[in-house]
Amino acid sequence: MLQVARKKTCCKVLGPGIRSVIWFHGCPRRCPGCIADTMNVATPNTMTDYETLSPSQLADWVLKNDGIENGTIEGITLSGGDPLFQTANDLAEFLSLVKHNSELSVMCYTGYRYEELLNDSEKRKVLQYIDVLVDGEYRQDLDNGQRWRGSENQRFHFLTERYRIESDDWYATNERQIEIELTINGKVLISGVPSKDFIANLTAKMETLGVDVDFT
Ligand code: SF4
Repeated sequence: MLQVARKKTCCKVLGPGIRSVIWFHGCPRRCPGCIADTMNVATPNTMTDYETLSPSQLADWVLKNDGIENGTIEGITLSGGDPLFQTANDLAEFLSLVKHNSELSVMCYTGYRYEELLNDSEKRKVLQYIDVLVDGEYRQDLDNGQRWRGSENQRFHFLTERYRIESDDWYATNERQIEIELTINGKVLISGVPSKDFIANLTAKMETLGVDVDFT
């Protein structure tokens, strides 16, 4: 089974084109400045209202959205938490279903280094379904504002030909974008990679206005 903290379709800020994004629950690393803190384990704010879905249930959600949007969805992005912290067999089964039933590309963020995944006989199975892996922990001191990466130590690994020709552009682009949603129960949902200190600064400003916001 897979633990899913949040999912969203039609996201334009976490990878190329319009994408469905899945934020998996759980990451043990506790990188200082992590924007997904409430989705991670062993933190004071640990989110408890995640969904537990089978690989086929999650694939059904992805494929249904792909059909509804009539091919406008280019791919899926896996974020978190850390997707590779999920059970590798379940994650591989989910991605196999998506890949065998669509043309969707797969981009995946992880705190693991690519070499660690290659040396792990279980997690390695997932790599065959990923077009682009973004690897490595978030480092606040190396956060230089680049698109789709939290910090400069993180690397794009083009594991298939799908986006390899664009690799220079992916590394050269310095423009970050985010999407912000306000839910009816007062939560602010942020998608994308925000600028360094964005959440802390926004929280401080909201407090001065007397607005209590629960970021998720
Ligand atoms: S690896 Fe990613 S999700 Fe995990 S704590 Fe670090 S920044 Fe957050």
